[in-house]
Amino acid sequence: MRWSKALIPTHKEDPSAAETTSHKLMLRSGCIRKLTSGVYNYLPLGRRALLKVEQIVREEMDAVGCQEILMPVLCPSELWRETGRWDVYGKELWRVRDRNSREFALGPTHEEVVTDIVRNEVRSYRELPFTVYQIQTKFRDELRPRFGVVRSREFLMKDAYSFHRDDESLDETYRDICDAYTRIFERCSLTFRPVEAATGAIGGSHSHEFMVLSDTGESEIIVCECGYAATDERAEGAVDPPPCDEAPGEMERVETPEMRTIEQVSEFLGIDPGKLVKTIIYEADGRPVAALVRGDREISEAKLSMALGADLIVPAPPDVIEKLTGAPVGFTGPVGLEGIDVIADHTVEPLVNVVVGGNAQDVHLKNVKPGRDFKVTAFHDIVLVRKGDRCARCGAELDSFRGIEVSQAFKLGTKYSSSMNATYLDEDGVAKPFIMGCYGLGVSRTVAAIIEQHNDKDGITWPLSVAPFAVEILVVSMKSEECTTLADRLYTDLKAAGVDVLYDDRDDSAGVKFKDADLVGMPLRVTIGARGLKSGVVEARVRKTGEVTELPVDDAVQGILRILETLP
Ligand SMILES: [Zn+2]
Repeated sequence: MRWSKALIPTHKEDPSAAETTSHKLMLRSGCIRKLTSGVYNYLPLGRRALLKVEQIVREEMDAVGCQEILMPVLCPSELWRETGRWDVYGKELWRVRDRNSREFALGPTHEEVVTDIVRNEVRSYRELPFTVYQIQTKFRDELRPRFGVVRSREFLMKDAYSFHRDDESLDETYRDICDAYTRIFERCSLTFRPVEAATGAIGGSHSHEFMVLSDTGESEIIVCECGYAATDERAEGAVDPPPCDEAPGEMERVETPEMRTIEQVSEFLGIDPGKLVKTIIYEADGRPVAALVRGDREISEAKLSMALGADLIVPAPPDVIEKLTGAPVGFTGPVGLEGIDVIADHTVEPLVNVVVGGNAQDVHLKNVKPGRDFKVTAFHDIVLVRKGDRCARCGAELDSFRGIEVSQAFKLGTKYSSSMNATYLDEDGVAKPFIMGCYGLGVSRTVAAIIEQHNDKDGITWPLSVAPFAVEILVVSMKSEECTTLADRLYTDLKAAGVDVLYDDRDDSAGVKFKDADLVGMPLRVTIGARGLKSGVVEARVRKTGEVTELPVDDAVQGILRILETLP
């Protein structure tokens, strides 16, 4: 591609709205342009990188026997109502109506649609197992789109779905696809880590995410030296209990005027936040429930949702809380709370003499003892584990790092096939629901993750495997006919040899062109200048390492091919 004819609008300055390195560099290098909040245009460089990643994904999915299909973006609401997800998926599900007021979802994921295909087309156990996948634009009505294409409202995803007779077969495919993911991310030159994850709105029993390590990642990962790794919302750990050797006192009412937060109450009463118990009212699939953790800890909504077997957990709105407790938000407590389940974290059980909300304006209760002063429906592990807690498996101290989630795999079991009555006839003549798995991979997100890990102060340093172009030819001065003649020839010969070449033939200053070359970051820059040509050489420079090789003009094409072979 000749740069003089290409749509590669570069910027010198960082765009003010961009928070992360990848977002800044994708904008500055002209890969993407924002159309509106959370919606992006891919310009030629961005599109080419996207296609490279897409092709790697396609090759590795095909290699483990998956078949590519394409399902519609428009998903009729009737299918989503069969599984109940139309109601529980929440506001992120993008809902539209046609001219006859028929409702559709712009698909964020396709379990319902693919299950509908399979229940209509697959009859016998003989046809199992199999896996289909698609690479398609997905929609999610994000409350707060951010980080450029990492959290956008429209994005490119690969989603795969597998169908099985039994769990062993599902396990095998799950492993095959996780192996394929490993190869995909290795080919994309990413440093990544598979971790245990929460199943969220997709559901099912087991889930793994592949996290790309990045300081600006939005996910927190908990890791242990024993090899344990999980997202923070899912991680298990041993939380140190505070000492509780004191004798239980008599429950007592204390005035706490306008003291609503843990910090305010603990400071006002002069006690450690770990001696408070906070009570948060949630709605679990629409049903109110009280969740209790120690005042110095946070609740993992993912663990709470698993403990309750609920699809969707949201904090209850203030009017629901006031109706249940008879008090404004900030004074909720478990004592005398009637008619709803009280779920407490295990760390709450041994506590004595704690402070809780009094279910009355400006009132807390002290010297409260769980079990004696209030009933707990069930104790579960619902605490959000953090760095410094101890590993549940080996007891070592847990560490944490940040990452970008680039893919997730789920064992769904029969969640979708049962609710949609999707069955096959087994060998014994009995109709049984399909056992399913699903496997998502964010293609546009992977491009951003690659840039997060491959950049320096001057711009992007694309790995060869996903670079929009392998080589950039840079002519120092377009006024030298000798230089442009050689550049034209090299451009033609390299393309003929199957190399993707960007040819900077713009009539700009050398300074501008060198800066732009570093910014757009093609793996190998070949510079043609009058001085080099006097000695009969062109200069090849590896973007990532800065390593320079002088290539004789006559051997330039072969020399470039040799260097490319050494690049990741
Ligand atoms: Zn451990």
